[in-house]
Amino acid sequence: MSDTHYLDWPFFEPHHAALAHALDAWAQAHVPQHHSADVDAECRSLVRELGQGGWLRHAVGGTAYGGMGEQIDTRSICLIRETLARHSGLADFAFAMQGLGSGAISLAGTDAQKADYLPRVAQGTAIAAFALSEPDAGSDVAAMQCSARIEGGHAVLNGSKTWISNGGIADFYVVFARTGEAPGARGISAFIVDANTPGFEIAERIQVIAPHPLATLRFTECRVPLSQRVGAAGEGFKVAMRTLDVFRTSVAAASLGFARRALDEGLARATTRRMFNQTLADFQITQTKLAQMATTIDSAALLTYRAAWQRDRGHSVTKEAAMAKMVANEGAQHVIDAAVQLWGGMGVVSEHPVEKLYREIRALRIYEGATEVQQLIIGRELLKNPPR
Ligand SMILES: Cc1cc2nc3c(=O)[nH]c(=O)nc-3n(C[C@H](O)[C@H](O)[C@H](O)COP(=O)(O)OP(=O)(O)OC[C@H]3O[C@@H](n4cnc5c(N)ncnc54)[C@H](O)[C@@H]3O)c2cc1C
Repeated sequence: MSDTHYLDWPFFEPHHAALAHALDAWAQAHVPQHHSADVDAECRSLVRELGQGGWLRHAVGGTAYGGMGEQIDTRSICLIRETLARHSGLADFAFAMQGLGSGAISLAGTDAQKADYLPRVAQGTAIAAFALSEPDAGSDVAAMQCSARIEGGHAVLNGSKTWISNGGIADFYVVFARTGEAPGARGISAFIVDANTPGFEIAERIQVIAPHPLATLRFTECRVPLSQRVGAAGEGFKVAMRTLDVFRTSVAAASLGFARRALDEGLARATTRRMFNQTLADFQITQTKLAQMATTIDSAALLTYRAAWQRDRGHSVTKEAAMAKMVANEGAQHVIDAAVQLWGGMGVVSEHPVEKLYREIRALRIYEGATEVQQLIIGRELLKNPPR
């Protein structure tokens, strides 16, 4: 772990610093620097390892179900994502998706659903996925068309979901579908669909610039018992938003991890690369670049951990989490680009750490609310509650 001064910030309690240090040591021993091309196998293995290491306990709520606490501690999941992202984007992904995929159950599940799924998620023996987006309902998610017709004691799902992380390797999917209690966002419900349910299939696997398991799902007369509904009928949109609310700040933390790694790599190169009879770092123009990178990282960290701390104190963080996600995601893109520049030609060689970071960061500016959506959220919150 390079620079850990920020763990002394007043947002943290002593156990948070201990968590970050312990995970960093664990990751050095257990997370490979290079993953094999079989991304599914790598992801399954990372989930298992993270479960065995006890880290996934932080991703679920409820001590009776294997969780570390009764509620998910936002600062802990942020520190975990930041630390894992510094080591490996795939390790961060494996952790994050266990939390996001099971988040609706932690927040709104019945005791039976929690007992059935959460201990397996926490142990890393079941892989979770969160299925909200559709081909024509991404940013405008309330436009979703995937439907669930209620028939006897079952919901019958028809339609598709796309961009679903862990699609193809997940053991279960929390799926949001239109049940029609009211128009728009008020007519959506959430259901847990086990991967082996008849009528459920992987329609297509999607390859992206930073390989992760990702797929389009198809539902054809897919029947799930109503006991698999998470939360009340028609409340699915709220459940989805509550879940995203927990994890949005942690997307900022993942960016922070990528950016910190980029600064480490950039510093290492700048201080050792000799040119024109001095090192790259001796040029003031390089120092300006490094200064900008470090300042961007600290601003993002301050916003991220402010939002996490505020959420852990029980406050609403709609605006603060949006600010953190926007500044951390966009800032990390600049920091990583600067690190690639410092490395010169080496920076664009496939699988070089900064080349991997360059690909890894891109999707974070799009998923769980694109930057433009975060800007709209911040603007709307400002107009609703103008600063006094
Ligand atoms: C790698 C990856 C993993 C994902 N994992 C999941 C997952 O596990 N589960 C899941 O449900 N979804 C997942 N998604 C989907 C993701 O949430 C959507 O891609 C995202 O919501 C954007 O939707 P879209 O791709 O349809 O883009 P669109 O909604 O078409 O948006 C395109 C662009 O329009 C701009 N934009 C959007 N709204 C506005 C506005 N109001 N004003 C101006 N500009 C705007 C933004 O720049 C945005 O990038 C994932 C996506 C990716 C790329």
